[in-house]
Amino acid sequence: MIRVEKFTMLGRDQRTYRCDDCQEEHDVDFGVALWKLMSDANKSDE
Ligand SMILES: [Zn+2]
Repeated sequence: MIRVEKFTMLGRDQRTYRCDDCQEEHDVDFGVALWKLMSDANKSDE
């Protein structure tokens, strides 16, 4: 399975995997991106 990097600008970590079995791309949503969480944490310090 090949991972295709795809980061949205909405702060969510969504990635596309090209499947070896069906030769189609599957979108996987990992939820809120790590950089978004760290960004929010920095804001709360202000
Ligand atoms: Zn598949």
